[in-house]
Amino acid sequence: MEKNNRREFIKTVGVGAAAVGAGIAASAVPAMAKKEKTFRWKMCTTWPPHFPMLGESADKIAQWVDEMSGGRLKIEVYGGGELVPAMGTFDAVSQGTVEMGHAASYYWAGKVPAAQFFAAVPFGFNAQSINAWILSGGGMELWEEVYSKFNIKPFLAGNTGAQMGGWFNKEINSMEDFKGLKMRIPGLAGKVLAKAGGSAILMAGGDIYTNLERGVIDATEWVGPFHDLKLGFYKAAKYYYYPGWHEFGTAFECMINKDAWNLLPDDLKAIVEAATYKSNIWMLSEFEAKNNAALRELVDVHKVQLKEFPKPVIKEMRKLSQEVLEEQAASDPMFKKVYDAFLAFQKNIYGWNKLSEEPYQELKKL
Ligand code: CA
Repeated sequence: MEKNNRREFIKTVGVGAAAVGAGIAASAVPAMAKKEKTFRWKMCTTWPPHFPMLGESADKIAQWVDEMSGGRLKIEVYGGGELVPAMGTFDAVSQGTVEMGHAASYYWAGKVPAAQFFAAVPFGFNAQSINAWILSGGGMELWEEVYSKFNIKPFLAGNTGAQMGGWFNKEINSMEDFKGLKMRIPGLAGKVLAKAGGSAILMAGGDIYTNLERGVIDATEWVGPFHDLKLGFYKAAKYYYYPGWHEFGTAFECMINKDAWNLLPDDLKAIVEAATYKSNIWMLSEFEAKNNAALRELVDVHKVQLKEFPKPVIKEMRKLSQEVLEEQAASDPMFKKVYDAFLAFQKNIYGWNKLSEEPYQELKKL
């Protein structure tokens, strides 16, 4: 214990002892009692228990909060289906069945379309830009507004970085090749695929491999090399496409029931917030550090054929993506409000990127 801290500690204990002994400074007692109260929370997640990176990051948030709070806030983490179904996480937090949830906000597209901007939208932000938008560019205020009527307080809690375009059993040489293509690709990206003439097929993560192998689907996207290698998609599909136009930097969320949040003393609130920030940078760093080794294994050991989507295909998919976003904006005022803010920040960040990221990427080609 530092000398100053020890003095503070003795002083604090002294006040407590005096209060107990002489019945004075009574106001100090409830304050201390409140500070020392222990909280027990439950956190539901949309991931299989301890799932690499995603479930792990939920586990780590609980561990860090426990360590930083000296055990005053204990969080029990549940995988999807252990307490409530994975896709019931949002409602469980909203209704206070659990205090906390860990997920990606685009899972709630059916209930809260505007929430998708805080995870990923096609041709949206990369990890650096979504962090800048949400944490420093007004995105968090909008996210809080979108979630407030559900009694949820959101925090950023991780990011995959750029994802891959997916696994295909046929080559994509032109837009024609999307016609009739059956692909597992969720959300707004699925709507873009439908506009291109394909069909987006929804299925649980655990069913993708079998469906791809049996030809029920022709293609699937998942995450990036680190996760895709673990799921063994290279055994069921020939071509691995990039870039992941639909998810350039998917963000994850930690949701907290507002009633539970309001009961926490300020220092525990600060600790929870700090743990989510740590998780946000931890997950992105893990993906960025480990993706290339997994990619090398896929290509060198498993002989996966890497393919880049042709530029005209990407250009057309971008056009279709804008149409999808504009159609959603026309039917949902909150979606439009967030979309307008997203577009304004995109313009802002692209302006700076011209002098920062673009020359940096060009340097690699010298
Ligand atoms: Ca994905």
